[in-house]
Amino acid sequence: MIQLYQPLNFMGMVYREIKQAVTDIEAMFGILGRNPEIEDRPGAPALKVSGGSIRFEDVTFAYDPARPILKGVSFDVPAGKTVAIVGPSGAGKSTISRLLFRFYEVSGGRILVDGQDIREVTQASLRHAIGMVPQDTVLFNDTIRYNIRYGRWDASNTEVEHAAGLAQIHDFIARSPEGYETEVGERGLKLSGGEKQRVAIARAILKSPPILVLDEATSALDSHTEREIQGALDRIRRDRTAIVIAHRLSTIVDADEIIVLEDGKVAERGTHDHLLAMGGLYAGLWNRQREAAEAEEKIAGLARGV
Ligand code: ATP
Repeated sequence: MIQLYQPLNFMGMVYREIKQAVTDIEAMFGILGRNPEIEDRPGAPALKVSGGSIRFEDVTFAYDPARPILKGVSFDVPAGKTVAIVGPSGAGKSTISRLLFRFYEVSGGRILVDGQDIREVTQASLRHAIGMVPQDTVLFNDTIRYNIRYGRWDASNTEVEHAAGLAQIHDFIARSPEGYETEVGERGLKLSGGEKQRVAIARAILKSPPILVLDEATSALDSHTEREIQGALDRIRRDRTAIVIAHRLSTIVDADEIIVLEDGKVAERGTHDHLLAMGGLYAGLWNRQREAAEAEEKIAGLARGV
């Protein structure tokens, strides 16, 4: 029996790893099979994480050599701090998170985690240290429990449910037809963008990595859901190093530093108050978003007959 069990167990592990790899790549690139073949240097050691500090040093990058995307980007995220990256669509914000994961190799400059060039350590150890809450979470055609446990396979049922509670998705699951055993995905229950993002947050809570990358969804969530997600994100960000790629500036006013990226370069940097006082690109984006939010509130008020 043991003889039969071992190969089956091994096959299960391989299957899970393949499924996991496919989902990571899918989540990052949106399309299957777009992960370039970046290999570990022979004999590369594992990343040694102390505090999880991140440094981008004069990083340049192009998906296509004819079109540079990052043109010498430098910034530091000290251990335990939050740096937000904002800027117009197409500025290169998500590219920064892909490079940190080493899904692509930098063209110039370097990226350091706790002082180690990420090209010099194994990819597995690098990705183990980083939790990602992507814009659009890919779910498996499996139970909601399985989808959350993906954050850490050895998590107990209690831990899965605790993480779901912190991510504000437990009540939704409890209301689902078969609770945590409800099937989701293509053939099962379809989750909204906000619900999927909360599954991603629950996974990140279970993984409990020293570094978090939060790529805020571009699609508008209703303000109640947004507040709930924001609360969950704030909680997991505490005491960790975090990069937040933000579209709604209201979510990152408390960041330790805000990097404003424009056309692949750092156009402005500083705290929210500092950038507002500068009256530049950030202040312009902030004022436009505030006006849009006020207009939305007025329309909602009219609809309620207030
Ligand atoms: P948004 O706010 O819209 O999410 P962003 O600032 O995150 O935008 P990126 O996703 O980093 O922007 O993309 C930067 C540029 O790189 C864009 O012009 C985009 O078209 C291009 N780009 C992104 N991914 C690829 C790819 N796989 N191959 C070629 N070009 C790409």
